[in-house]
Amino acid sequence: MAADVLSEAGVGVDVYEAMPSAGRKFLMAGKSGLNISHIGSTHDFLMRYHDHSGPFHDHVGAFGPDEVTAWMEGLGMPAHVGPTGRIFPESMKASPLLRAWLRRLADRGVRLHLKHRWTGWAPGGALAFDAPEGDVTVTPAATVFALGGGSWRRLGSDGAWANMFRQAGIAVDPFRPSNCGFTVDWSARMRDQFAGAPVKGVGLSADGQATREEFAITARGVESGSVYTLSAKLRDEIDAAGSATLWLDLLPDLDAAEVARRLEAAPSKQSLSNRLRKALKLTGVKAALLYECADRAALNDPAQAAQAIKALPLKLTGTVPLDEAISTAGGVAWAALDDQLMLKEKPGHFCAGEMVAWDAPTGGYLITACMATGRAAGRGVLDWLARRAAE
Ligand SMILES: Cc1cc2nc3c(=O)[nH]c(=O)nc-3n(C[C@H](O)[C@H](O)[C@H](O)COP(=O)(O)OP(=O)(O)OC[C@H]3O[C@@H](n4cnc5c(N)ncnc54)[C@H](O)[C@@H]3O)c2cc1C
Repeated sequence: MAADVLSEAGVGVDVYEAMPSAGRKFLMAGKSGLNISHIGSTHDFLMRYHDHSGPFHDHVGAFGPDEVTAWMEGLGMPAHVGPTGRIFPESMKASPLLRAWLRRLADRGVRLHLKHRWTGWAPGGALAFDAPEGDVTVTPAATVFALGGGSWRRLGSDGAWANMFRQAGIAVDPFRPSNCGFTVDWSARMRDQFAGAPVKGVGLSADGQATREEFAITARGVESGSVYTLSAKLRDEIDAAGSATLWLDLLPDLDAAEVARRLEAAPSKQSLSNRLRKALKLTGVKAALLYECADRAALNDPAQAAQAIKALPLKLTGTVPLDEAISTAGGVAWAALDDQLMLKEKPGHFCAGEMVAWDAPTGGYLITACMATGRAAGRGVLDWLARRAAE
């Protein structure tokens, strides 16, 4: 996005990328539909971000869902809005959008240098790269870093830049997994019979936040959908207390009194699983979760069973490893940046995207903020160049 802004303004741009091709994580994000943004008022949209600091909101507020949609249309890629308000390219895929974007940049003269890994600042302040032809140094008029977070290293985002930044005296908040799965000490039965099972129509809540999206059981624990939505709160609870409680409502369309009444009315000679199945249609993975997390003896009492069904505590013992998280919180500290995302310690050097310390749920909020901060950094460079020219 920074290259987009700068090349549109006629500024010469060189893009250095460590991997043999560009945008690998962007392409991965589009594997099951590139959810690039989300409809909503500016206020509602901004409230989804876990960072509420001034410059971040200003930049995302200036380049939100409407601007992302118009930008895609400018590349000949109309937007499609899904049933829950998620915005996708009409083709759903990332590759046609990335191809059109790279073509536009190339047409404007942007040079893409692949297999060029930035290794730090050389003495004197030049940028040092490990390139196919050996060590390369360059001294551009301005630099935008967009090196990504610290997960999915096989796509290039290894977070190794954080050490180079810290060595240069730039504050970097530690990486933390975000939009991640969690571990659970499942019984062998739960693991063997239900790993991979989707769980639908269940309400989930954590620390006052509630959602009703689907999630999945894994051999190690739980992941995706609603688990990602609640992941920031759950991760914070684990960091503070060593474990977290995810509350499940197995029958969100019935209140506890109705659940108890139906169980009460079931013939007492029926087995518990038959009562759950016939009176409440509670079977399969939902019944297994109930047996797994509730006190088995208490389930024979309708009132106690209703209570467990409506508020079932699932103990999460940890997060999955950082590298497996969809995104990472942490990164370049806001205090290290000015309002235009320029590093205070390194005038003329800007930062954008997931490498900056903001955090967001999935749903298009991540890529929108990457684009918005990239655009802001590009505009910051334009101001910086203008100031330098005036000196
Ligand atoms: C499976 C998956 C699905 C996702 N789905 C969505 C989604 O639907 N919607 C959404 O909004 N977000 C989604 N995301 C998150 C989204 O992809 C990221 O937030 C986004 O790609 C971050 O963009 P970025 O440009 O900041 O960093 P990245 O996309 O990580 O790009 C950073 C680039 O910098 C390069 N690099 C790193 N270090 C160096 C170095 N030293 N020298 C040179 N180059 C370097 C890397 O190779 C990489 O190409 C998903 C992520 C994953 C993993």
